[in-house]
Amino acid sequence: MTTEDALLQLPARPGRDSGHRPAGGLLSVVIPCHDEEAVVAVTHARLVRVLPETGMDFEIVYVDDGSRDGTLARLETIAAQDGRACVVELSRNFGQQAAMSAGLSVARGDAVVIIDADLQDPPEVIPEMVRRWRAGVDVAYGQRRSREGETAFKLLTASLFHRFFAGLMPYPVPVDTGDFKLLDRAVVDAVCRLPEKRRYLRSLVPWAGFRHEAVQYDRHARHAGETKYSARRLLGLAADAVVISSDKPVRLTWVCAAALAVAGLTAGLVAGNGGESNAGVSLAAVVAVACLVAAVQTAAVAIVGEYVVRTYREAQGRPTWVVRRTLNAPSARQATPADTARAA
Ligand code: UDP
Ligand code: MG
Repeated sequence: MTTEDALLQLPARPGRDSGHRPAGGLLSVVIPCHDEEAVVAVTHARLVRVLPETGMDFEIVYVDDGSRDGTLARLETIAAQDGRACVVELSRNFGQQAAMSAGLSVARGDAVVIIDADLQDPPEVIPEMVRRWRAGVDVAYGQRRSREGETAFKLLTASLFHRFFAGLMPYPVPVDTGDFKLLDRAVVDAVCRLPEKRRYLRSLVPWAGFRHEAVQYDRHARHAGETKYSARRLLGLAADAVVISSDKPVRLTWVCAAALAVAGLTAGLVAGNGGESNAGVSLAAVVAVACLVAAVQTAAVAIVGEYVVRTYREAQGRPTWVVRRTLNAPSARQATPADTARAA
């Protein structure tokens, strides 16, 4: 019998090799929290009710991102009453992206779900994400079928930005998705190993590759409390996301340079062919053209400056977040079978 024949006669092995994952294991849920005192207790109750449906052991990692209200006190109570809840207290507000990355770095699960604290993303979708993961998908991302409680302006700008952003990326980036997703351990490790400090997970996770699949769901209105994103903060986040994820804006300056060169050459040809001098050209028109050219050049310098600033920040090498304290820290808890398997 040839080796090929022998291979053909081997029974299909269950487990990761065939794309299916065995039952059991540990599921981590990472939740960034900033000023969420009105909702964290309800969120915890909803999670512990629904997570047993996954058939996995679970841990819930709350990252307190410099809350100024009673969020931390509520999280301390939750951690004192439930050993499955871990609290990572950051030393100040570092922003949602940093908070999620901090949570990913301590999560020990075979699969890790990221979810907002405000119950806009229903925890009841998690068992379906776990089912997709078991079937072999590495990233099961929530895709919004509908969005309750958002203004028409926010819906339109978010939809336009998602499509614009996806168009900029050289790899597929799903639209109408947020940070609500399940990641396989291999994806979490790949993302956590990236050395960059300024992190935008919505482009880092697709960058990592692996097998992605959408899980459709209806996004609810916030259970309580207020959004942490003013229009100004959203705009800043969008600009940051684009500049740290893509070099296309700086390349756009070549297009501007080419357009200006074509305009200049055309004007030169017209002048060379005896185009009118002075007559009909007002001073205002000359000033308008000069201002336009100066604006394009200033914008080009500013775009380059945005990249220089981010390069400078990366060169400084400051950590993305600082931990003040951890409650029910994973290392202090009992090792799970997942830990033992990973250590082996
Ligand atoms: N968040 C955070 N740090 C911040 C801002 C927000 O950890 O600086 C958390 C917040 O508590 C919530 C999630 O990020 O769990 C999403 O924030 P929010 O619901 O305000 O955003 P929206 O859904 O309105 O876009
Ligand atoms: Mg929200």
